[in-house]
Order: sequence, then structure tokens, then C-alpha cells
Amino acid sequence: MITSTNKTHNKIGFIGLGNMGVPMAKNLISAGYRLQVYNRTISKAGELDAASRTVCQTPAAAANGVDIIITMLSEDEILKEAVLGEEGILKTFAKNGVHISMSTISPDTAQLLSKAHVTAGSRYLAAPVFGRPDAAAAKKLWICTSGDEQSKEIAKPILESLGQGIFDFGEDAGGANVVKVAGNFMILASMEMMAEAYTLAEKNGLDRTKVAEFFGSTLFNAPIFQNYGKLIAGKQYQPVGFKSKLGYKDARIAFKLSQQAESPMPIVSIVHNRLLSAVAKGWGDTDWVEGVSRGVSEDAGV
Ligand code: NAD
Repeated sequence: MITSTNKTHNKIGFIGLGNMGVPMAKNLISAGYRLQVYNRTISKAGELDAASRTVCQTPAAAANGVDIIITMLSEDEILKEAVLGEEGILKTFAKNGVHISMSTISPDTAQLLSKAHVTAGSRYLAAPVFGRPDAAAAKKLWICTSGDEQSKEIAKPILESLGQGIFDFGEDAGGANVVKVAGNFMILASMEMMAEAYTLAEKNGLDRTKVAEFFGSTLFNAPIFQNYGKLIAGKQYQPVGFKSKLGYKDARIAFKLSQQAESPMPIVSIVHNRLLSAVAKGWGDTDWVEGVSRGVSEDAGV
């Protein structure tokens, strides 16, 4: 039985050192955890304090001898391979260990992995996050969870060292991912809307930055309209925080979910096509702000 005071929690496995994984791993180290890290590009581990991390060559090695493993990989198939593959987490992970899965993936994958963990005698907690890499670095992520209650208790102090708030969405492993995908759909739709409105202003000879400042401080006084509004209005596309190809992945999941639930979402088709078009033009590795905003600007000939 694992309790949240179990000393072995001081060592955590961590897989996926991308734009989000690196600042999250750094925060775990500052909170006093030691990490066993695995990343496809091993050299990324060099960004972490050498005394606080052990570099592993496979996901199985990162999961060996710990009772918490965190994953922050890009997408469903890559996460499945890291859990179920020949050199996957389940080959070595402790009985009763908790896998805290923080990527944005489909609820179907969360449920499949949750079942695989139960069969292996371990546990799966869905814990996808809202917030870009700068928010991750500032421990300002919003974290949504779903899974069994004991896993949530065990994960709580770890998640608290990564974010500013934890919100629970039930026992079904897929619940938190439905919320995450719904949220990214809302952000995408808001980005498309802002890009269209500010481009309309620009084409009428107005300063799009001033228009965004007006809306962000009055009628649309909320973080998405302020933060994304500033980037879109200023056509500020660097640094790349969240890649267009990953945004496209989220739009695909939202599209599939709307079909599975027979819950029509006409706006999903618009944002799905917007990011499909960005990826088709070779902009997959640009920030999704560029994928949306530059696409709208090009359509308008500006
Ligand atoms: P990233 O592209 O920067 O990193 C992806 C990670 O997956 C890296 O560790 C990479 O090595 C690994 N990976 C990719 N392809 C692989 C492969 N074929 N085999 C093995 N490993 C592979 O992505 P990110 O921005 O850090 O996002 C990680 C997850 O978090 C995604 O699910 C994303 O949707 C989600 N997310 C991102 C943000 C953001 O702002 N960047 C915010 C919230 C959630």
C-alpha cells in the first residue's frame, strides 16, 4: 500500500522532456524530488540539475524502482508505446504504483491505459494541464484529474508542486481528458475569432494591437483574450510554446469526440481545417498562434 508519506515518492520517474516536460521536471527537482528521466532525445536531460536526475535509456528503466511515474509525451500513440511497448513502463513498474499521465490525449486512450495498469496491478491517473511552458515554469498550471481516489491523494503533493490549482472530474479515467479537449477547443475557437476580428480592424486601417487592448481590458476581460489576444494582435509568433501540429492533434480529438457522442460542434470543423491547413503548409512546428493567426491574415491578403 502506498501512502503520500511513503519515502520512495522522493524518487519519481519522468518521461517526456519537451517544451512542457523540461520546466515541469525542473519544478519537481526544486520541490525536492529526485528524477529518473527518459526522453527520446537523451541530451535534453542536460537541462536538468545533474545531481537530481538519473538518465535512463528506456521508459521501462525510468519506471523501475519508483512508485510514481509521470508522462508528458506528445500524443496518444507515443504514450501507448511508452506504456505498453517492449521497453514500456508496464514491464517494470511497481505493484500499486501510480502513473500520472499529463499529456493531452483522447479519453479512449486514457481508458485503455487505465485498464492495462489495473491488469498489471498498478494505477493510472489522468492529469492533463492548462498553461503554456511559461506558466509551467512559474508553477501556474491548472490541472484536471480523473481516476481512482487513492491515486489522487498520492498524486496531490506532486501536482501541487507543478500547478496553481487541481480540479477533479471523477473516477472514469477519460473525464479529465474530455475537459482538456473541450478547453483547447474553446481556446482555438477564441483564437480564430480574435484573428478574424483583428484582421478586420487592420483591413479597415485600425491598429490591431489597440483594438485587442480595448477588448482585453473591457468586454473580454479574461486571460485567453488578454494573453492570446496580445500575441495574435501583435503577430508575435516566437518563442514556440505549443506547436501547431499538437493543436491539430487536439482538434482531431475534439472532432472525433463530437462524432462519438453525437454532439454536433460545427466550429470544430473550422478550427480543425485551420490547423490542417497550417500543417499542410509546413507550419506544423510553428506556434499554434501562428498556425491560426497567419492563416487568417493570408486568407485576407495581409
Ligand atoms: P513537445 O513536442 O515539446 O514534446 C513532446 C515530447 O514527446 C518530447 O519529450 C519528445 O521527445 C516526445 N516525443 C515526440 N515524438 C516522439 C516519438 N516518436 N517517440 C518518443 N518520444 C517522442 O510537446 P509539449 O509542448 O511539451 O507537449 C507535451 C504534451 O502536453 C502534449 O500532449 C501537449 O498537447 C500537452 N500540452 C502542451 C502545452 C503547451 O503549451 N506546450 C500545454 C498544455 C498541454
